[in-house]
Amino acid sequence: MKVIYPGSFDPVTKGHIDIIKRAQKIFGEVIVAVLVNNSKNSLFTIEERVELLQDALKDIENIEVDTFSGLLINYTESKGCNRIIRGLRAISDYEVELQMALANRSLNGNVETVFLASSPEFNFLSSSIVKEIASFGGDVSDLVSSSVNEALKEKYKNIK
Ligand code: ADP
Repeated sequence: MKVIYPGSFDPVTKGHIDIIKRAQKIFGEVIVAVLVNNSKNSLFTIEERVELLQDALKDIENIEVDTFSGLLINYTESKGCNRIIRGLRAISDYEVELQMALANRSLNGNVETVFLASSPEFNFLSSSIVKEIASFGGDVSDLVSSSVNEALKEKYKNIK
């Protein structure tokens, strides 16, 4: 079964990769879909985010990295999928994720959102915290792939 894992991935972290690997084991095929959202202030361009994802996922089978804009449910239908994967960390994720899952269900009742609980070691991890640490010159090498680590150093090299 093919499933969609949507997100901003600005940038991809080891928490995302953990969810992708586990979803691939359960469902067989994962489309990692990067949301093109011009109103959101992102550090990395869409092209950079896709490239960093492709690099981080190159050793995992049956993964496609794609982009989408507009309604997730329309994109999901266009890919012939009826499962959306989301990761759940602390309680704070729950409210937003539940609202989104129910909104998507109201648009198409055949599409189910499936939640995977974060692995404990990544429960605190988000793209935002990684950017914050990296922006002050902190070491994020345990939290992201080596390409993302290098890309973050490059982005922040003039801001210290
Ligand atoms: P969005 O902007 O849509 O929240 P993100 O790229 O931040 O996109 O996250 C995509 C998905 O991955 C979301 O479901 C989010 O809850 C989940 N996620 C992010 N970080 C982690 C993590 N450390 N562990 C588990 N799930 C995570």
